Amino acid sequence: MSADGAQIPTLDVASLRAEFPILARDAYGKPLVYLDNAASAQKPRAVIDAMKNAMEHSYANVHRGLHLLSNEATTAFEDARKTAAEFLNAPSADDIIFTSGGTDAINLVAYALGVSEISEGDEIILTLAEHHSNIVPWHLLRERKGAVLKWLDISDDGEIDLDAFRAMFTPRTKLAAVSHMSNVLGAPAPAKEMAKIAHDHGAKILFDGCQAGVHGSVDVADIDCDFYAMTGHKLYGPTGIGVLYGRRDALYDLPPFRGGGEMIDAVTTEAVTYNDPPHRFEAGTPPILEAIGLGAALQWMTDKGLDAIAAHEATLTTHALEELSKLNFVRVYGRAPGKAPIIAFTVEGAHPHDVSAILDRTGVAVRAGHHCAQPLMKRLGVTATARASFAAYNTHEDVEALIRGLHKTHEMLS
Ligand SMILES: *Cc1c(COP(=O)(O)O)cnc(C)c1O
Repeated sequence: MSADGAQIPTLDVASLRAEFPILARDAYGKPLVYLDNAASAQKPRAVIDAMKNAMEHSYANVHRGLHLLSNEATTAFEDARKTAAEFLNAPSADDIIFTSGGTDAINLVAYALGVSEISEGDEIILTLAEHHSNIVPWHLLRERKGAVLKWLDISDDGEIDLDAFRAMFTPRTKLAAVSHMSNVLGAPAPAKEMAKIAHDHGAKILFDGCQAGVHGSVDVADIDCDFYAMTGHKLYGPTGIGVLYGRRDALYDLPPFRGGGEMIDAVTTEAVTYNDPPHRFEAGTPPILEAIGLGAALQWMTDKGLDAIAAHEATLTTHALEELSKLNFVRVYGRAPGKAPIIAFTVEGAHPHDVSAILDRTGVAVRAGHHCAQPLMKRLGVTATARASFAAYNTHEDVEALIRGLHKTHEMLS
């Protein structure tokens, strides 16, 4: 049941899997068990076909064209923007900026806000659970503008204490930049409450939604955030494309990030005036095919049902956590309620890289390392973990393959 009491449709996982050509291949002669979805998801036929079709039938540069193919490409590109707006419940397609990815979206805000709003001594609040993509752009502002980074601790499960968050704001706080869902611990952040706290203190708030956008529906209007970043390749879409949602007034307040064609109003040898958002932030030829692919991916997810996908993933998470808790040689990091299908773990006496290498030989793909979250690794007292993460196409057999692989790992390494 969903929050409003409606029955959530169940996902037909077998037929859904058949939509992903890559899942038909093997790994070392064994069935492929792809559990590295938090790093990047595989692509359904709908996405592959949309990009192929655009290249084969409707390809040209967008916006400036006065011919058939350019008009068709422009329509497909702008339709993708509308689909992204609907996916996030943004008030208008004009609130959606296409970027080259999640990292690029956050850098855009950091750079532009740094120019317009950040002076020496101004404060930016981050949490210890951020991805490097939501840390390093702010370190650059620290280096360039003298901004002060303030770090909110999280619980061992990755949860945020709202009182502790509130207590971090001062009159110098300009922005909170927070992951809506950790890519290691999987804990969801109380986004709406956090946005209200930031606004009550006259600060803006950005959410890194690179994981949250994949595992449930996001409503930026309800959250009432200033900025929301997502990345295409984790949303079953292509690489090279991301989305930055910005609240209308927040976007109009931002100066340009990059200069080039399409982002201008008029250019003379003496001066330049800029276009309105979103075009102000899309200098040069945009990632046309990638945007079309992302539009197809978001439509595909919506058609399958975001709640149905999340409900299926939750059963996989529960199953995996249950089975992992029976393995006394495995330690799991992060068990927050409502946690995403992202499970970080270590195996006693084994380096995560060795765990991942042995699992790989059983056909099971997981990630091992610091997951671009070194401050979080330090907070958890580890240098690295392994991480299994599920997507809509994963099955309970995949969970069992992971558990079998871990037994084998333990036998080999102990
Ligand atoms: C993957 C990820 C990013 C980076 O996105 P890219 O588009 O791959 O650069 C940022 N934050 C989180 C939480 C992520 O999981």
